[in-house]
Amino acid sequence: MELNGIHLLLTYQCTFECDHCFVWGSPWQTGTMTIAMIRKILSQQKKPGLWNGFFFEGGEPFLYYQVMLAGITEALNFGFKVGIVTNSYWATSEEDALLWMSPLVGKFII
Ligand code: SF4
Repeated sequence: MELNGIHLLLTYQCTFECDHCFVWGSPWQTGTMTIAMIRKILSQQKKPGLWNGFFFEGGEPFLYYQVMLAGITEALNFGFKVGIVTNSYWATSEEDALLWMSPLVGKFII
């Protein structure tokens, strides 16, 4: 079987607590990755061309925005394509959504 992506649960914390959540995300959850953990995962990849994408998910990854941004930069530098899964809690207005997204312009595949 060919692997085509890494899905990293940056945190189990989330702004919501959905009944259908398969990672039991909630505001009460603990467990968040550090940038050192992300680097270790990246360092274990010997053939980055093998993977199609490196995805930052949760929980809600935007709760740890700076770690997410740093991880995205390192994953891109390593040669991965990058995607994010978010509930977009931060997009409370068009202006705020653009503010949160502007550092990410041009960094996504998905
Ligand atoms: S990660 Fe998604 S499904 Fe899970 S609690 Fe948060 S919003 Fe709901």
